[in-house]
Amino acid sequence: METSKFEQLVRQALNELPNEFHSRMENVDIVVEDRPTRDQLIGSGLDEDQCLLGLYEGIPLPDRYNYDLVLPDKITLFQVSIESMCETEEDVIREIQDTVVHEVAHHFGIDDDDLNAMGVR
Ligand SMILES: [Zn+2]
Repeated sequence: METSKFEQLVRQALNELPNEFHSRMENVDIVVEDRPTRDQLIGSGLDEDQCLLGLYEGIPLPDRYNYDLVLPDKITLFQVSIESMCETEEDVIREIQDTVVHEVAHHFGIDDDDLNAMGVR
C-alpha cells in the first residue's frame, strides 16, 4: 500500500473517533513510519522480534502540570508492522483503527492495564 494511502486511512480513523475525543486532543502529532527503531522497541519493553504496531510518546493530558514549551506528543503508526499482520485492505483499516484508539487512549492517560481491563487491545 502506498504511504499516502495509509496516511489517508489514519486520518480517516482519527475522524471516526468520537467527537469528545477529538475536541480534547491537545498538542499531539500523528505520524506514519515504516517500522519502529530499535530504541523505540526496547523503550516499549519489547524484544526485537516482537511486533510494535503503534507507539505513543509524550506527556499524557492528566500529567500536564506546568506544561509549557514542550514538544507535542507523538503518536506513530508503523505501516510495515501493521501490514505484515494483515491480509486484506479491510484488515489494515481495522488494525489502523484499533491502533489509533489505543494510542489516543494513552494520550488521555489511560495505560495498557486500564485498556486491558476495559477489554480494549
Ligand atoms: Zn499501549
